[in-house]
Amino acid sequence: MSCNYAEGLSPYENKGVLGLPEKFDSAEKFAKKCELLAQLLSQSKHVVVHTGAGISTSAGIPDFRGPNGVWTLERDGKRPNINVSFTDAKPTKTHMILKKLVECKKVHYIVSQNIDGLHLKSGLPRKYLAELHGNMFIDECNVCKRQYIRSAPVETVGKKCSGVPCAAELVGGRPCRGRLYDGVLDWEHSLPENDLLMAEWHSSIADLSLCLGTTLQIVPSGNLPLETLKYGGKLVICNLQPTKQDNKADLIINYYVDDILEKVMNILGLEIPEYSEAENPMHIAENTVVNWTIERKDVLALEKQFKAKCKGVKKKRILIKSKRNSIDLQNEINTDDDKSKVIKLEIKEENVVDENAEIKTETNGEQNGVVNG
Ligand SMILES: [Zn+2]
Repeated sequence: MSCNYAEGLSPYENKGVLGLPEKFDSAEKFAKKCELLAQLLSQSKHVVVHTGAGISTSAGIPDFRGPNGVWTLERDGKRPNINVSFTDAKPTKTHMILKKLVECKKVHYIVSQNIDGLHLKSGLPRKYLAELHGNMFIDECNVCKRQYIRSAPVETVGKKCSGVPCAAELVGGRPCRGRLYDGVLDWEHSLPENDLLMAEWHSSIADLSLCLGTTLQIVPSGNLPLETLKYGGKLVICNLQPTKQDNKADLIINYYVDDILEKVMNILGLEIPEYSEAENPMHIAENTVVNWTIERKDVLALEKQFKAKCKGVKKKRILIKSKRNSIDLQNEINTDDDKSKVIKLEIKEENVVDENAEIKTETNGEQNGVVNG
């Protein structure tokens, strides 16, 4: 649970805006916005999904900054009530839908801030996942940097050595004298290099970034969706609380992510797969060494794709929709095609409601290796 994980982290003051009230779109708005999202998913060529703690709350894992989040309660001198362990937590509808959307090539990459291992349990292949803050179910070698799936969650956080020797020769590598460390970042740690590179490149190539269950307050994770905007793509945010990037979004849906995605799957005519315990790679890891390292060839292939699309392209200045530049926004709406108009107008309407709840705090801009969304 995020609780014993949270307790393992070193003390840290700047945890961002905590406990903002949650909001829910009306049934009518919800339906309309899900239609728009389904349309965007169908039209887009390269979709990146950014996930935070909000997609795991329906699995029983508390989030961090929600009204009952770990950091919100900590601020008030309380602790969350938890009745699920990381071992027992099962992937949610959202995790299973994302796996399916990747399979049918409607989603091309997932960037997660979650350390709960639920994307891994859902059966999502490594090639399609960046885990920017680590994973309780992954060990990493300090010498060859290979990663291995664990059969049980690690008991330490903050990259501590378990003393277990690296088994590189069992996954096709040369024998390695390294030792395994837990793969869960503490506040001060740098993000895993290949995960971050892949996340940045995919976000830049993407014509749609979809943010699910994150207030986007932690950098650099919370800024990655902006890369999509800078190269001319669109930004959709699905979250119950206001997020730091709401004023830059093309569409905001305030509802449970499970319900949003279920509705979208209905519209797209796609089935939601059931979670199968037997396919959970952690069970395979009970009897054999399972490699979870990002493959070099995948990094190189993506770099090529990124350079072809983005190199030499001038990044756009991102419009921030606020009272001060609402005229700019209006111009932007007028120059866009009809579909964007509908979407941006939706948001404009949203922002009126949002005005008081807007997140204004910049979360530790210098910080590079901070944890969970
Ligand atoms: Zn090694």
